[in-house]
Amino acid sequence: MGNIKLVNVTKRFGDTEVIPPIDLEIRNGEFLVFVGPSGCGKSTLLRLIAGLEDVTSGKIEINGRDATEIPPAKRGLAMVFQSYALYPHMSVRRNIAFPLKMAGMDKTEIDKRVGMAAQVLNLTEYLHRRPKELSGGQRQRVAIGRAIVREPAAFLFDEPLSNLDAALRVNMRLEISDLHHNLKTTMIYVTHDQVEAITMADRIVVLNKGRIEQVGSPLELYRTPSNKFVAGFIGSPK
Ligand code: ADP
Ligand code: MG
Repeated sequence: MGNIKLVNVTKRFGDTEVIPPIDLEIRNGEFLVFVGPSGCGKSTLLRLIAGLEDVTSGKIEINGRDATEIPPAKRGLAMVFQSYALYPHMSVRRNIAFPLKMAGMDKTEIDKRVGMAAQVLNLTEYLHRRPKELSGGQRQRVAIGRAIVREPAAFLFDEPLSNLDAALRVNMRLEISDLHHNLKTTMIYVTHDQVEAITMADRIVVLNKGRIEQVGSPLELYRTPSNKFVAGFIGSPK
């Protein structure tokens, strides 16, 4: 289903190499977190995977196929942004249904999927509301709902919780972890927050200036950081 491979992928903007050559295999069904300081290339990597940016060299394979042969809309990847990007004039129901409507899906199937997503996300009672009548956490759930209804092969999250206050962030962390547990869909999650990375990830990719410093489980990174950067970032003594 959702096997994604980066082979010698690089990205430049003008003269700046933002991503030096990277190799990485994202396993089907895993919760993979990209963590690193602001500006280290996390969003760029996610956008490359989503097809919102083209690689400068190297290639991305999705289920063994060269991603350049697959238009972004057909990659089966659903992105959840940090700014919720909801349509203010549309109800929650219409916001969630929007990508399916665009894809020309029939109404019965749309209603079924929206109903299921709303149930999973505890939004059933809010389907008639507008985004401005929702709390920050509820808005974030709507944004996730819009991804869920597409039944993607993988979810791509770009710092989805950074606009929320601390208490809500802890709550939403648990909700997204639960969602992963229930759906068992590949999730690629970008954050600059070490705690988020450690508590949510099956595997963490530590990035520094576009380079992968280390890949491993939270425990591996904590116990055996491969260098000072990882140790400093994950918070273990080395
Ligand atoms: P992060 O998400 O880790 O904060 P980004 O991937 O957004 O980092 O950015 C990585 C680097 O690439 C930054 O130095 C940023 O300024 C630069 N960058 C990102 N997008 C563009 C772009 N479209 N044009 C030029 N430079 C960009
Ligand atoms: Mg970013």
